[in-house]
Amino acid sequence: MKEIVSIVKCIDYNPKRLKKALEDSLKNINFDFKKINKVLIKPNLLGPHNPDQAVTTHPFLLEELCKILKKQGVKKIFIGDSSAHSTDLSFEKCGINKLKKYAKIINFEKEPKKLFSLEENQKISLPKILSKVDLVINFAKLKTHGLTHVTLCTKNLYGCVPGKLKEKLHKVYPGVKEFSTLLNRIEMQIKPKLCFIDGIIGLEGEGPGASGIPIKSQILIAGKDCGPVDIIATEIMGFKPNSIYTNKNYNIKKSQIETIGDGKDIRLKFKKPNTAMLTMFLWLNKLFPKSKIIANPEKCISCGICVKKCPVQALILQPHAICNHKTCIKCLCCVEVCPHDAIHLEEAKIKKLISKMVLKIRKV
Ligand code: SF4
Ligand code: SF4
Repeated sequence: MKEIVSIVKCIDYNPKRLKKALEDSLKNINFDFKKINKVLIKPNLLGPHNPDQAVTTHPFLLEELCKILKKQGVKKIFIGDSSAHSTDLSFEKCGINKLKKYAKIINFEKEPKKLFSLEENQKISLPKILSKVDLVINFAKLKTHGLTHVTLCTKNLYGCVPGKLKEKLHKVYPGVKEFSTLLNRIEMQIKPKLCFIDGIIGLEGEGPGASGIPIKSQILIAGKDCGPVDIIATEIMGFKPNSIYTNKNYNIKKSQIETIGDGKDIRLKFKKPNTAMLTMFLWLNKLFPKSKIIANPEKCISCGICVKKCPVQALILQPHAICNHKTCIKCLCCVEVCPHDAIHLEEAKIKKLISKMVLKIRKV
């Protein structure tokens, strides 16, 4: 049987239109909430961002979903996350605390934990509640990402890893390939049975944080499994699905997925992050100097968030953030968390120029 992925159009965050988009999506994928009493919603709350920045799952969508769940007889709703930093502040800034009348808001860092198996002899400590609810709803955001190139349902589950453990795992799995395999293993343990992607306003370019640019993508994507939903979302964004390691690891053929909904023929062209462009030209790395993490002293306010987040202590404040390039593993966590778009992975100008020229010739 084919995996069904729904893509419905929704032009903005008007509550009436959101309600319809959610109801249509559930109908398209034939989902009902029979025998489901306890639900945990995992949104993307990367950090304390205003919903207009399009970095986090929009609270209006979550509100409409909570109303549907209540109407369907769901007795207990939880909304939980562990942000890249400042989770409690994120709940406030992202508009999640306003949903307390529908759901219990939980900071995964403060929740009891349970060991989940990742692979033989390897376990990971995740919030116990993930195994205590009848249904986990994964509510991701349609965004680009410097390291993994896109961040959709699979990557969103990394927010179930509480607090500092996230940084530690970046150190253990430093490359994009290993890190993506870790993401797939975490997904296998959590296995959300209902997945949404808020693509009403997505984020393109240097996502997933403040450096990305909001894009009016006007779609809501839904399905019962992360893999097919991510594969279709990647294609809609204008990336090759198999160029994303987490997608490749699912080993699902496009022919095994059926798309449905009034948005199923939509194809967008999200601006790719520089890192995605440059991985197409790995030969350039051999000829020219390697990329480096650089903070812009005009934008950096020396808040120290990136310093705390760096898994290998490669950053210091002097007074602005400065990177020890020998220690840096290029996990891009600093870029992800900087609230001021002040720190980036800088490529040699000549590399950027050549890759742009080749792309132009190839019309990519
Ligand atoms: S680079 Fe960004 S996160 Fe780091 S200290 Fe400067 S402003 Fe703060
Ligand atoms: S400096 Fe940034 S990219 Fe380098 S290891 Fe630290 S957080 Fe990762």
